[in-house]
Amino acid sequence: MKRPNKTKYLIIGAGPTGLGAAYRLKELGQSDFAVLERSSHAGGLAASFQDEKGFTWDIGGHVQFSHYKYFDDLMVKALGAEGWLTHERESWAWMCDRFIPYPVQNNIRHLPRDLLWKCIEGVIDCNLKQSSEPPANFKEWILATFGQGFADLFMLPYNFKVWAFPPEDLAYHWIGERVAVTDIKRTLKNVILEKDDLSWGPNNTFQFPKRGGTGAIWNSVANLVGSDRIFLNSGVQSIHPESKTVVLGSGEKMEYDFLLSTMPLDLLTRMVQPELTDSVLELSTHLVHSTSNIVGLGLKGPTPDSLKTKCWMYFPESNCPFYRATVFSNYSPNNVPDISKYWSLMTETSESSKKPVDRKQLVEDTIQGCINTRLISSRSDVVSTWVYSAEHGYPTPSLKRDHVIRELIPFFEQKGIFSRGRFGAWKYEVSNQDHSLMQGVEWASRMVLNEPEVTWVNPNFVNAQKR
Ligand SMILES: Cc1cc2nc3c(=O)[nH]c(=O)nc-3n(C[C@H](O)[C@H](O)[C@H](O)COP(=O)(O)OP(=O)(O)OC[C@H]3O[C@@H](n4cnc5c(N)ncnc54)[C@H](O)[C@@H]3O)c2cc1C
Repeated sequence: MKRPNKTKYLIIGAGPTGLGAAYRLKELGQSDFAVLERSSHAGGLAASFQDEKGFTWDIGGHVQFSHYKYFDDLMVKALGAEGWLTHERESWAWMCDRFIPYPVQNNIRHLPRDLLWKCIEGVIDCNLKQSSEPPANFKEWILATFGQGFADLFMLPYNFKVWAFPPEDLAYHWIGERVAVTDIKRTLKNVILEKDDLSWGPNNTFQFPKRGGTGAIWNSVANLVGSDRIFLNSGVQSIHPESKTVVLGSGEKMEYDFLLSTMPLDLLTRMVQPELTDSVLELSTHLVHSTSNIVGLGLKGPTPDSLKTKCWMYFPESNCPFYRATVFSNYSPNNVPDISKYWSLMTETSESSKKPVDRKQLVEDTIQGCINTRLISSRSDVVSTWVYSAEHGYPTPSLKRDHVIRELIPFFEQKGIFSRGRFGAWKYEVSNQDHSLMQGVEWASRMVLNEPEVTWVNPNFVNAQKR
């Protein structure tokens, strides 16, 4: 279908947020809407790709763990009840030359004795000296919550590797359910009774598409929305709120009544014409993000026994560049060309101005890292490599983040522009696929039914229970 010149609801981006908004508008009987997507496919950061050798890759290990019945119902509609594989979450950390069940803090009995004592001593010390002052940043929160021993061993190095910023540069209010905190009784009980503690958190089982990787979900949701409403290869280059018009890269214009932007908020700020004031532009420079570099390794032979049931593993030490590796062939046998001959590993390496990455060396460093951490035994097992760098990978919960989004999002709303999604709202704590889809759905419900939005406004509330 030809792109219209005018639409009531215009959505920038066909990732989970934009598709959620479009799907809900259609469900509410609206037909006057359009989605503009810069790239040649739907799905955004939740898209999947097949490499030349037939291995399927996500942009980092994507796992479904939903806080919403609406999301669950849509997943079944998208791929059918039979379109999924269900897995028990098996996550581990590799440290001190061994695998330790995750969360490590509940399973420290696996550590060498001297380090085990350091961790216990730290927990006892921080329980004895409870401070009345709240922590000023994530580092202080880590030290006050876990103690020096476990902080030095895991929390500080691991979090630097994930976030690509030192923990003292980050806030801690976003944590909620996302970090397992130390329960001293539980920790000691597991040490003394020699018990493994594997079941933690909201995602102890998860589903994964049988075929096509995570991206298969979003291709199906895009089909439910209808290809006549989604315009691929249609990047927006400038936004003119006074005339309620966007200009595409091709120079074509499109008018709207209401605009939902799911592109990164910092880029949105620079796209508005006439240019915003210096103080608004300056504010947006305090939005911090890291880049996610994904390296997929297609490997020959059977999956090693040590990895046969593992889902993903954390790597806090400096013997490899990545902070996480996923045994992606365990998510679905169809992620490799022939499961009787191949298996696959997908690694994630963060990057920022505070943690530069030599991208030319990254594949080589990743392979060497896999050998150092005994994930693979020989580089000759690698039959395929796949690399993807998502410039905006993680929305960093920096110290100034809350102040900036409290100012910028209402500022844009006054101009009729609603910024939502992983980087639209810039809230890591509500930036998974379920949250992103629901940010779009809730926006559409607000537009049509005047219902209040919940997810981006109140992350703790939506994360506390299934809705
Ligand atoms: C390494 C990594 C691991 C992850 N793991 C998980 C996980 O395990 N579980 C989970 O649920 N989620 C996970 N996520 C998060 C998940 O990918 C996001 O929740 C989701 O993709 C965010 O959707 P979105 O629509 O808000 O943004 P995006 O996916 O970023 O989509 C935005 C879209 O807007 C388009 N766009 C941008 N600018 C323009 C423009 N100017 N004009 C037109 N289009 C434009 C982009 O091309 C993109 O398609 C992970 C993300 C990363 C990076």
